[in-house]
Amino acid sequence: MSRIAFIGLGNLGSGMSDNLVKAGHEVHAFDLSADAVAKAAEGGAQTAASASDAVSGADAVVTMLPAGKHVRAVYENEVFGAAKDGAVFMDCSTIDVDSAREVGEAAKAKGFKFLDAPVSGGVAAATGGTLTFMVGGEEADFVLAESILSAMGKAVIHAGGLGSGQAAKACNNMLLAINMIGTCEAFALASKLGLDQQKFFDISSKASGQSWSMTSYCPVPGPVPASPANNDYQPGFAAALMLKDLGLAMEAADAASAATPLGALANDLYQSFVDQGDGNTDFSGIYRLIEECDSNG
Ligand code: NAD
Repeated sequence: MSRIAFIGLGNLGSGMSDNLVKAGHEVHAFDLSADAVAKAAEGGAQTAASASDAVSGADAVVTMLPAGKHVRAVYENEVFGAAKDGAVFMDCSTIDVDSAREVGEAAKAKGFKFLDAPVSGGVAAATGGTLTFMVGGEEADFVLAESILSAMGKAVIHAGGLGSGQAAKACNNMLLAINMIGTCEAFALASKLGLDQQKFFDISSKASGQSWSMTSYCPVPGPVPASPANNDYQPGFAAALMLKDLGLAMEAADAASAATPLGALANDLYQSFVDQGDGNTDFSGIYRLIEECDSNG
């Protein structure tokens, strides 16, 4: 059992905090939202008056915040000054690789241990304890954190040094976006060629066009009953969050001088989709945008 500070009790953090309590940890929870803190208390966490109050005396700190600027501010202003010597920090937010590396280096310089540990999986996975963690940081620190992360997920994978977890997340979600758009294009073309979409699924899901976007999350209604396409594209994984992740991937590609032409195109298409008011639509709903286009765009 460890004493854990949990900061950021939103859509995902709430279920993650509950699962740490269920695993027998003593969780001290803080969020800027009083309602979020009250919900964590219902799950068995102890409430803290501030982030630094939560961190004081904790063996480990878990943060689950919106973006890099929040992570920088919370660590610099609240965590570093209050944490006990040698504490392990796990930032599970999805943020830019540079912020993860800079906060991690600053933590290490002060004698703390830091891991960037973003997740794959949404609210249901956070509640059910079935998230996938991709973790960057030193191997010895990863070993210390593994049992805590395992209480919140089904897979905990060490990706490499500091920032590698965020790098893995950016690359994975860029690939997912490209793959989803490609799957949508194929279904829209099949339909315009007079091919029945279920028939196309039956063939392509057993042929070389097969992918997770097709067989687990099919973007057209019918073939995969649990996919958001059968529920008017309710998220799921909202298009606005996909656009955020694509922005991080494009930032990382620029910094590394990596060519990502399809990633850039996927970013533009999700930007158009969000701009037309579909930010809260599931990301597979981009099928509607693709289907509406003709060869003139
Ligand atoms: P959210 O906006 O629901 O929760 C973030 C919480 O952080 C909020 O409750 C907010 O009040 C709190 N917060 C912000 N600044 C704070 C501060 N200074 N001190 C304390 N609390 C503060 O976000 P979410 O959906 O839970 O996502 C969290 C992270 O996980 C994001 O980086 C997101 O990109 C990533 N992520 C989300 C999903 C998803 O499906 N929601 C999936 C994978 C990854």
